[in-house]
Amino acid sequence: MRIVVALGGNALLRRGESPESAIQLEHVAEASPALAKAATDHQLVLVHGNGPQVGMLALESAADPSISRPYPFSDLVAETQGVIGYWLQQGLANAGLTTPVVTLVTQTLVEADDPSFGDPTKFVGTAYDEERAHQLADANGWTVRPDGPAWRRVVASPLPQRIIELETARTLLEGGTTVVLAGGGGVPVVETAHGLAGVEAVVDKDHVAALIAAELQADLLILLTDVDGVMADYGTLQQRVMGEVTADELLALSFPAGSMGPKVAAACHFVQTTGKHAAIGALAAAGDVIGGAAGTQIRGT
Ligand code: ADP
Ligand code: MG
Repeated sequence: MRIVVALGGNALLRRGESPESAIQLEHVAEASPALAKAATDHQLVLVHGNGPQVGMLALESAADPSISRPYPFSDLVAETQGVIGYWLQQGLANAGLTTPVVTLVTQTLVEADDPSFGDPTKFVGTAYDEERAHQLADANGWTVRPDGPAWRRVVASPLPQRIIELETARTLLEGGTTVVLAGGGGVPVVETAHGLAGVEAVVDKDHVAALIAAELQADLLILLTDVDGVMADYGTLQQRVMGEVTADELLALSFPAGSMGPKVAAACHFVQTTGKHAAIGALAAAGDVIGGAAGTQIRGT
C-alpha cells in the first residue's frame, strides 16, 4: 500500500509543554517504531505540522535586535521543515528502519487572493490567558483567538493548490525512499510576475496531506494528533471517540476551524473524491490507527 501519514505539530509538542528540543525528540522517539514499521511494510509519505514550532520561531525572530524586520512565515516554515525532518529521519533510523528516508524542503502554491488572508484561523505558537493574548495582539499587530480554554495567535491559512516538489517525491517513493514532505503544510508561495514568492501564511498540514494523498494515489490517509480520535460531544462529560464512521456522518457535524475542523474536512474530502480510506487518531497509537484498530476510521459509505 501507499500511505500518507500526517503528524500533528501539537502532538510533537503538547499544549502546556515547554518548547524544548529534547521533549519533542522524545515524542518523535515514541512514535518512531510504529512509523518505521509502516515505512518497512508500505510506501510511506510523512507530512508534519508545525504550529507550536513556527510560532516559537516567529517570537524569537521578532525579538532579535539585529534584524530590521522579523523573518516572514514562509522562511520560518522552511526552518521548521529542516529541524522536524531531521528529527524524523533520525527517529526512524534509530527505530530500525533500514531503507532510506529523506526530507524534501517543499513549497506549496496558494492563491494570493485566498479569502483566509482576511480571516486568519491557523493557531501558531504558545497558549496565553485572554488578557495577555490581547496585550500581545495590540503590541505586535497579531490576531488572537481562543483555542479551547486558552488563547493563541492565529495566521492566515490559505488552501493548498499544488505541491511544487510533488513529482520529485513520487520518484523517490517509487524508488523505495520514505519521504518527509510538505512539513508545516509546505512553504506557502504565490505565483508572481517574477516567479514564485513566499507569503505570510501557514498552510494547514491536514489539507496538504489530503492533497498529497490524492495526487500520489495513496490507498490510505492517516491524520495523527494529540487526541484519540474525533469525539462526539467534545468538551462535555459525555465525550467519546467515534470509531467507524462515514464521511457523510462526520460532515453533518461541526468542528472548530483551527483544530479538528480541517482534519475532518481534509479526511472526508479525500475519502469522498477517491473512494479510499482515511483515519484520525492519536500519535501515541500510530500503529493501531494505521492498522484500523484505533481512532476514527472514515469510509465513503
Ligand atoms: P494538530 O497539531 O494535531 O493538528 P490540532 O490542535 O489542530 O492538532 O487538532 C487537535 C485538537 O482538536 C484536539 O487536541 C482537540 O483539542 C481539538 N478538538 C476540537 N474538537 C474536537 C472533537 N470534536 N474531537 C476531538 N478533538 C477536538
Ligand atoms: Mg492542526
